[in-house]
Amino acid sequence: MASHFPVNKLSTNGAEPSDHYDREAMMMIPDQNDMGEESNLQVGEDFAVVEPKDEECSVERLHHLSKIVTQFQDHLRERASNYLGYPGNQNCSHYLALSTLLQFNINNAGDPFKKSDHGLHSKKFEVGVLDWFARLWGIDKDEYWGYVTNGGTESNFHGILLGRELLPNGILYTSEESHYSLFKIARMYRMDCETIASLATGEMDCDDLRDKLLMNKDRPAIINITIGTTFKGAVDDLDLVVQTLTDCGFSDNQFYIHCDAAISGFVVPFLKQVPKFTFKKPIGSVSISGHKFLGCPMPCGVLITRRRYINLISRSIEYIASFDTTIAGSRNGHSPIFMWYVLNIKGWKGLKQDVEKCRKNARYLRHRLKKEGISSMLNEMSITVVFERPPDNEFVRHWQLQCLGNMAHVLVMPHVTVEMLERFLYDLIRKRKTWYGKVHPPCLAEDVGICNCACAVHACI
Ligand SMILES: *Cc1c(COP(=O)(O)O)cnc(C)c1O
Repeated sequence: MASHFPVNKLSTNGAEPSDHYDREAMMMIPDQNDMGEESNLQVGEDFAVVEPKDEECSVERLHHLSKIVTQFQDHLRERASNYLGYPGNQNCSHYLALSTLLQFNINNAGDPFKKSDHGLHSKKFEVGVLDWFARLWGIDKDEYWGYVTNGGTESNFHGILLGRELLPNGILYTSEESHYSLFKIARMYRMDCETIASLATGEMDCDDLRDKLLMNKDRPAIINITIGTTFKGAVDDLDLVVQTLTDCGFSDNQFYIHCDAAISGFVVPFLKQVPKFTFKKPIGSVSISGHKFLGCPMPCGVLITRRRYINLISRSIEYIASFDTTIAGSRNGHSPIFMWYVLNIKGWKGLKQDVEKCRKNARYLRHRLKKEGISSMLNEMSITVVFERPPDNEFVRHWQLQCLGNMAHVLVMPHVTVEMLERFLYDLIRKRKTWYGKVHPPCLAEDVGICNCACAVHACI
């Protein structure tokens, strides 16, 4: 049987960085750039589901399957050691302590707060986790409602649904930098949607918001603000959005604000002297992802809203003996336990340390890029370093960078060490010499602002 996975060749353990990317490993990663037919993942022989042969004994078969899984683990380990561009924290080994829970099929279908006859659920853990987030975002126990979702997207679907049910004729306002789920929501809910322009930092442009609100003064506003935009890590200015609504004559019952805090919901609350997003302000809901900064090993998220809104969508379902208040029916019963576990292990203090480490490492990366004369940007409240897109797909795939137009970014998550950044920088700086000479690096003035652009024209400004 051919091995499809290199055995950890690239987790260098301090050895010389290697520029030999394993081509077989690369083939496992779907191509981000050419989205044509060729980019479809090919299923190798090992990954096909095959009918057990009669003559094959089950021990042999189990051995064969576990060998494939072990090789896959090696592949994952190698990929995790070069995982820089996507918003997932790969520090997951502590979750092995929960592996015995895999022998149970746990399902949290229905409302987390309502009793159910179904015994195999983890709703006590779920409510514990929700209480923690409610405290984080400044809303009393008896005032909030929420649930553990399948991820930030489902949380957004729920938050915007509440806004739409409260204000059925409302228009959705969301910035061009917001996550693609918002535009999907607008399509699926058939809502009118106004896309708001953004500043070079990635923040919502509130002048544009004002213009668009004034054009639609006769209809309520459902506003999505992003706490940490997907690409640039920008934080929309909640206070300015509320001020803009007031200035435009929208009273409290004519708008609904949903905060999409998928990534930076775990960053911003730990920073000093920054404006807070909290239920003390006129927001309706907050969403966050559990598998991004927090690093749960399966997609999950949280949605928190005001309890009084939930009756709008609640329906009693007799045969699940519960209330249907969630987007999904069956819900992952393991993920709330994983969140509960990591929040208990780290606590506020541990999370704060993670945030401080990531911000320090992000500033270090940004500093090194700047010193090398590479266009780059790091927003104030962010762990996302944006820089010029490398013109080399193999490099992009090796470091698993996300790219958009002329930009690429690194998300300095808790698993990203200085050693990893050093390997990355070493590789980047050396390869750049071969990429550029006759051709120049791209100008990023429009993407990240003139002051962050180091192209031939803007470098000396
Ligand atoms: C990742 C992300 C989402 C979606 O979260 P999933 O957990 O992937 O569904 C939503 N909003 C923002 C800003 C994100 O970065």
